[in-house]
Amino acid sequence: MRFTPIQTLFALPSIRSRLIAIVLATAIPAAIALGVMAATFYGNQKKQSEIDLLQTARALTSALDRNFSIGLNVAQALAVSSKLQQSDFAGFHAEAKSVLNDRFPGFTFVLSDESGQQLLNTIRPYGEVLPRHGNPENLRQVFLTGKPSISDLYMGGVMKRPVVSIEVPVWRDGKVAYALSVGFLTDSLTRILTDQRLPEGRMAAIFDPQGVIAARTHMAEQLVGKKGAPVLLQRIETATEGIVETHTLEGLGVIIAFNRSTETNWTVGISMPWTVVLAETLNQIALIYGGITVLLLAGVATVWVIGGKISRSIRALAAPAIALGTGAPVVVLDHGPIEAIEISHTLKAVERELQQYRDHLEQMVAERTAALQASNRELEQFAYVASHDLQEPLRMVVSYVDLLARRYGDKLDKDAFEFIGFAREGALRMSELIKDLLDYSRIGRQDGHPEPLDLRELATEALNNLRLALADSGGTVVLADTLPTLVGNRVELVRLFQNLIGNALKYRRPDQPPRVEIKAERDGTAWVIKVADNGIGIAPEYRERIFGLFQRLHGRNAYQGTGIGLASAKKIVELHGGHIWVQDAPGQGSVFCFTLEDKASLPVDMPSAQDQG
Ligand code: ADP
Repeated sequence: MRFTPIQTLFALPSIRSRLIAIVLATAIPAAIALGVMAATFYGNQKKQSEIDLLQTARALTSALDRNFSIGLNVAQALAVSSKLQQSDFAGFHAEAKSVLNDRFPGFTFVLSDESGQQLLNTIRPYGEVLPRHGNPENLRQVFLTGKPSISDLYMGGVMKRPVVSIEVPVWRDGKVAYALSVGFLTDSLTRILTDQRLPEGRMAAIFDPQGVIAARTHMAEQLVGKKGAPVLLQRIETATEGIVETHTLEGLGVIIAFNRSTETNWTVGISMPWTVVLAETLNQIALIYGGITVLLLAGVATVWVIGGKISRSIRALAAPAIALGTGAPVVVLDHGPIEAIEISHTLKAVERELQQYRDHLEQMVAERTAALQASNRELEQFAYVASHDLQEPLRMVVSYVDLLARRYGDKLDKDAFEFIGFAREGALRMSELIKDLLDYSRIGRQDGHPEPLDLRELATEALNNLRLALADSGGTVVLADTLPTLVGNRVELVRLFQNLIGNALKYRRPDQPPRVEIKAERDGTAWVIKVADNGIGIAPEYRERIFGLFQRLHGRNAYQGTGIGLASAKKIVELHGGHIWVQDAPGQGSVFCFTLEDKASLPVDMPSAQDQG
């Protein structure tokens, strides 16, 4: 049986679809595991990003510290210059200016007195009129404490730009006489950040102790001088370093790592947008998923091919299995899965066993048939001989009873004649019975080969044999115009018609002349011949019995007969491969039906009379 692909997929799963289902079933937990893995991976990636950010923030803070400490050290060195001690301001101006170069983070030195008045500024020629210090508060601290101080971001007095300065005290006669400032531009702070060469997507900023942005890698011009994000500033106040998730001033969702210098209280913050963390993770996850999808597709493709091969091999087993049933030679598979090859070998072994069994069976059947035929022959021979030989003593009984009546008739009384009559009648009846039995036992033993016979001709011959009975009964027999020509034994089939027509005439109604009708109907490869009469009919319960030997429904006084006619009819029909039965006639009477194979449409293999012994 073949199934359409749809049936195969939905109604009855094929090996191939089952294998694919297995691959997919294993892929589901893998996909779930991957999902969990992806989430973990994202968490780890985020954590790693945070650690990286924090480390960068620390590195930047120490770079910033280094920057300030260079400025501080140089300023402290200059503060003890002999030129200052001798109030040689012009000389000091030149000396300080000579320190400023590209590698020095500061851009100017400023000397101010306690009132905040700038006495010299290296970005101005010496002697020029100068404004007051831009960050008097920080200045005051230095005069007050005598210690260096780093300012917050403020507007420079000369530059009118945001600057940061470190003030160191200049001592004279045991007290602070001046404050020497080293100024830093925000550009130099920004350079610290840019020198770090941050990876794509990262932004860094430097905040002064008030949380004001002093430098920024992005949008510095707009944002320097403004306060940082409030969430971040809150955290900076309470911790020296940490991670904050917030929005930047541009409104970007970010993770910020910050680190505050314990020396200066200045803070470096470095941010990374969410999207970057996510994108970096997703890239890797997509790569893993892509790889797994390719593997899965490769798995399904492999299973598709292997499943196809397996089902082909299994289907290939159908041929040897069918061969086993039909007796054709079983061909052993020489390729495909080992299991299929093994099964085909097993089928081959079964074929051998089956062959042995068949041979054994055939031998047994042949032996039994031969034994049966022998015993049948013996039995038939016995019946034939017995009935033949019985006739002789019977004839003798009749002749001597007759002789008795003739020769001693005058000496016998009426009773004796009556007894002689009974004895004669009994002997004659027995003779008749034996004759019929002899005829019965001869069925199938008669001469003549099966030959094509026109049934109409045979029925006519039977009628001819019955012409006296027909005349006596005053009946009519109607033969259908067309009766088939069939292969059979002439003598026996004539006798069959004779028995049936004879009965139809015999079992007539007393008040009605018999009418017999003979016709034939096709039934597949057979013909059904019907002999219908208008006689006394047969009750349904006797319709089986009447075909038995010596089975009669009436006494001899009512209807003559031996009860062998229908048994002979049955034997003849069955020897011709058909069967016989009786059914109701449409009006009254009975219809005897029998089938005969149309041998013209079949191979002629009917055994001849001689064949049957
Ligand atoms: P018999 O020698 O008694 O006719 P058969 O074997 O021919 O023996 O018939 C068996 C019995 O079947 C008969 O005794 C009769 O009762 C019944 N029978 C046979 N043919 C007919 C018929 N055409 N109509 C009615 N009864 C029949």
